[in-house]
Amino acid sequence: MTVTRPCASAHCSGAAPQINTICKALKWPVSHPVETNDANGPCVCSCSCLAFGTPVQVAEDEYRAIEAFKVGDSVLATGKDLKWRHSKVTFSQGTTGASRQKYAVVVVYGGTGLVVTSDHVFLMSDGSLKTADRLAPTDELVSPAGQPVEIESVHIGDYVSGFHHIATVKKEPNKNLDQHLLNTNGVVSGDYSLQLFYKSGEGHHLMTNGHEDLPIVGSAEYRRLYGDSSLSAPRLRGQDMILLEKNIPDPFSGQFISAEAMKLSIPEDAASFISEEEAEARRDDPKREFNDPAAREWTEALINFYQVFFPQISFQFNWADNTVNAYAWVQNGVRYVAILGGLVRTPAIELEGISLVLAHELAHHYGGNPTFPGGLSCEGQSDYYGMLVNMRKVWFGDQYITVAGKAIAQMADFFGVPNSPNVPGGHAGCDHPPGSCRIATYYAAVNLQLKPGCAS
Ligand SMILES: [Zn+2]
Repeated sequence: MTVTRPCASAHCSGAAPQINTICKALKWPVSHPVETNDANGPCVCSCSCLAFGTPVQVAEDEYRAIEAFKVGDSVLATGKDLKWRHSKVTFSQGTTGASRQKYAVVVVYGGTGLVVTSDHVFLMSDGSLKTADRLAPTDELVSPAGQPVEIESVHIGDYVSGFHHIATVKKEPNKNLDQHLLNTNGVVSGDYSLQLFYKSGEGHHLMTNGHEDLPIVGSAEYRRLYGDSSLSAPRLRGQDMILLEKNIPDPFSGQFISAEAMKLSIPEDAASFISEEEAEARRDDPKREFNDPAAREWTEALINFYQVFFPQISFQFNWADNTVNAYAWVQNGVRYVAILGGLVRTPAIELEGISLVLAHELAHHYGGNPTFPGGLSCEGQSDYYGMLVNMRKVWFGDQYITVAGKAIAQMADFFGVPNSPNVPGGHAGCDHPPGSCRIATYYAAVNLQLKPGCAS
């Protein structure tokens, strides 16, 4: 399966209002991919961008929580000139109630902050725009009066809350962005129309120079530049808020689940998909964007699917971990299978490849002899049994042939070897066989041949 980069194509933004109505009706979280029947790949739910409780200024000394706005309500809006005027809300929509919003971004400034979806647009102190997923601790936002507001920290993780957004004018923004900017908890950020305009690809001239190439919050490149704090929970002082007016809604009413909090502890004797040395060598290889929802969604869907066939397994998945590997182990009598974000975000591997990785890890538990001293099946045996038995268990009939074929092609790409059933020489023992042997082993399992000698 091939998935185009979500959000970037105009076909989605054109259909966004309809898609988002469906998203809302079905209670799908923001950034949930939605398949559409055209050649351009899935769109994503993008109906809402500010967490419930976010204070938006409606009049002098009056703020309202974002989710409380109705069409026809008055709100203060401006353009880049920061001449604030009363405007009417023409669009107000969001998720119904709390859902687990992936890739929520927490921006901390002045002891308070905002929780937004990663595509929410902010006005920067130099007059350009940036999306939340590209904000850095060295950036300055803007107060409603035009003062620079230093960002203290930026965090990415999951946020359990509703999300909502409003717009004043539905037409495209002019150069000054008239009426498309709002006072959101003491900093100026964009309305829903401005966000759609950016997503349509037409608003790129409004963005900070080189915006598309800036590292995504939480990604390996971002952490190299700004440290690891983007993966931890924010520290809010709470008292010295920029906004001291009374009756301001609480912008942190939901529950933030930091990437760090999702960290798994994997025992040293766990069996793995590739060797620790190979995983380390691949750590800095190019990856899918950190907040690209498709790979995370198909991995979660596969885990749910596999769980039905393997109810006794505890499946673990940590999207934020950059390690390019997957693991199997037994602890206190519980059988674990874990898959880490670096492998899932590897561009060569798609849904079918992840399916084979899960089948391999399950085979460490159920693949039989030969085994490591701890009882888990050896690597070559896990490759063979995973494709021979586990893949056949979850993929029915022709599905098995289709998924197996794509999985093998993706693995050949991943290992950098020809997609060929030819068996190389040598014997791997219990360790990871070379890539060409692993491909030959998968073919042997699909074709109901014996496990090749190189895999034992
Ligand atoms: Zn393994």
